[in-house]
Amino acid sequence: MSHPERIVIVGAGHASAQLCESLRRGGHTGAITLIGEETWLPYQRPPLSKAYLLGDFARERLFVKPESFYAENDITLRLGTEVEAIDRAAGAVRLAGGGMVGYDALALLTGARVRTLDCPGAQLNGVHYVRGIDDIDGLMPAIGRGGRAVVIGGGYIGLEAAAVLRKKGLEVTLLHRSSRLLSRVASAQTAAFFKELHEDEGVHIRLNQTVRSIEGAGRVEKVEIERVLVDHVERAATVEIEADLVVAGVGVLPNQRLAAEAGLLTENGILVDAQCRTSDPAIYAAGDVAEHPHGDYGQIRLESVQNALDQAKICAANMLGGSEVYAATPWFWSDQFDVKFQSAGLPQGFTRAVWRAGEKPRSGSCWLYAEDKLICVEAMNDPRAYMMGKRWIEGGLSPDAVQIADVGVALKAVAAG
Ligand code: NAP
Repeated sequence: MSHPERIVIVGAGHASAQLCESLRRGGHTGAITLIGEETWLPYQRPPLSKAYLLGDFARERLFVKPESFYAENDITLRLGTEVEAIDRAAGAVRLAGGGMVGYDALALLTGARVRTLDCPGAQLNGVHYVRGIDDIDGLMPAIGRGGRAVVIGGGYIGLEAAAVLRKKGLEVTLLHRSSRLLSRVASAQTAAFFKELHEDEGVHIRLNQTVRSIEGAGRVEKVEIERVLVDHVERAATVEIEADLVVAGVGVLPNQRLAAEAGLLTENGILVDAQCRTSDPAIYAAGDVAEHPHGDYGQIRLESVQNALDQAKICAANMLGGSEVYAATPWFWSDQFDVKFQSAGLPQGFTRAVWRAGEKPRSGSCWLYAEDKLICVEAMNDPRAYMMGKRWIEGGLSPDAVQIADVGVALKAVAAG
């Protein structure tokens, strides 16, 4: 297969910066054009809901590469530019402001957009989201004014934001519509750990609750909440909470419109094979937007930095004639108050959860098994548990669950087979 001469990358996130670097390192000497809707250079998102929101992280440090990297590597940046459509027959993308950019290979690294609230009052001033630099720059002054905040959603974003708001001295109520926190992304034991942590730090957690409306004359003054039961919303149990600001972390949606309109296969994301190729062999997708096959989990779409970086490397290798297959063990991390959370594997399809107490306060780990096979470890302030667990999962080994539960047995002495 001949190597593509002109490579176009749509989307300017973490994966895009990595793809540029990997393509040049891999010897690509042809044109690379990077097109992004935001005006920012590709930046890291993890600090946004943590240190950057807290004010402890300079904006310059967010950028994955300095501007000079793109110049030195002869990468054409088209920032603040929207791609309107892909013309597969012409081998070009059409820009919203007019003009076409031709490609021999195209990478759709379009990521995900924040899911927005649709309740009455969702448009009021004082309703914030946590996704991009501009969102955080808009939220920081509101936090600086103090007062009462309602956080909607008990995933990582909601919990990380709640932790920052508390650290900044706000009164915080967090609503989560499921019966436990982190319902989409962690085990019940780990969710219970974080509930206790947040309550200990003064966050009012309200489970099985959602927002009915946001009220205020021009800006947020109160939030009406209602109880969510398994099969319906209990309107009678509506309660009002006074609030100065609302922060919503209610998930993200993959940006797959361009791909779908161009006739590429999409489901919950752009469908790719294990080599990150879409249903058109000249078009690749990676990162939050790519739904890919995984040996352990079937068809999945991962919303993580690790996945974005690893898949970008696979894209680069395969664009340059390789046949590399993506098969990484997923890992995630989070920082909330003084707890560092690290996980390896996914909390899906397990039949047993084994808790191992930590050596220090606010530490511990949860080990998830499918029958006798270890499939995931979630570690709180316990990097050793994370490292050992990740190594075992990657090596296809499973530690003895009885010994895991026994803190008297050092991890390095646990039998694994
Ligand atoms: P998320 O994991 O989907 O969590 C959002 C949660 O909000 C869901 O569990 C959902 O409950 C709940 N929710 C949705 N609508 C609600 C409503 N109206 N009222 C109350 N609760 C509601 O997404 P996220 O926390 O917003 O995170 C967004 C993205 O950032 C994800 O891609 C995430 O992976 C990424 N992120 C990752 C990390 C990390 O890896 N450490 C950290 C921060 C962000 P149900 O479960 O019942 O639907």
